[in-house]
Amino acid sequence: MAFEEILGNDKIKKNLEETINTETVSHSYLFMGPEGIGKKKFAIEFAKMILCLSDNKPCNNCSSCIKFDGGNNPDFRLIEPDGNSIKIAQIREMQERIYEKPIISNKKVFIINDSDKMTEEAQNSLLKTLEEPPEYAVIILIASSESKMLNTIKSRCLKVGFTEIPKEQIREYILKNKIIDNPSQSILEFCGGSIGKLDSIVKNLEIYNQLEQTMKNLINMNIKNMVQMFNEFQVLYNSKDLINELLDYMIVIIYEYIKHTSEYEANVLNIIPIIERTKIKLNSNTNFDMCMDELLMNICSNMH
Ligand SMILES: [Zn+2]
Repeated sequence: MAFEEILGNDKIKKNLEETINTETVSHSYLFMGPEGIGKKKFAIEFAKMILCLSDNKPCNNCSSCIKFDGGNNPDFRLIEPDGNSIKIAQIREMQERIYEKPIISNKKVFIINDSDKMTEEAQNSLLKTLEEPPEYAVIILIASSESKMLNTIKSRCLKVGFTEIPKEQIREYILKNKIIDNPSQSILEFCGGSIGKLDSIVKNLEIYNQLEQTMKNLINMNIKNMVQMFNEFQVLYNSKDLINELLDYMIVIIYEYIKHTSEYEANVLNIIPIIERTKIKLNSNTNFDMCMDELLMNICSNMH
């Protein structure tokens, strides 16, 4: 079936397929789990299956599937945040549409992505629809942070809990699709079981690789003095937009190193709080270059 292309969460695949086969699809779902693990892909495939007109869903051939793939199935709607939030106007528009009968299929599916970004007003407004949905309607909410959602909303949805994809499965995926030749353990660790995170790493792979090599040089004491330190870590100065991720990546590299060494190396471990302090400083709008200078000087004097 359609979920074959999506990594991980096999139990959820089975359960959702089962509800399609037994025609026991609920009115409202809450797809909950960490970011970047494919919740939206799951929801979209599930929607396509719900709307498909053939027995073998999704058939990719019926008028519903064809329009769905073309992005113009009138019985389907994907709602995303407008800026930083999902506003009440977006929910009102959805409510107008939901009461119009389906055109091609006998169901109508609405996905609200990042539904934890709904304003409280928007959530309260949606509540009315969740309480009394039209019998043909299916609403799928997707969220990564449960705490921002009203309990009244959560209690009216069937919760589907997604989990991280195991590292080994991510490695197989990377190799099978030839995404990275030989992903390091640090890269896999940094992905945190998220294909979304992997995509963002791949976009800047050269930077990540360079930083990993530099960190290895540092840990193996191949960086002898301050001048060399500044030269080697130039990559940080050149990657201001990515700096928070890169600092986190440095920490992951250190943990990976510590995991695989039998000696207690205080000077390597001590780099972690230095990096953490830099992260805090960056968030308080301190001058970027000065922050980097201080970071490198502190690491260097800690190592020697
Ligand atoms: Zn179909």
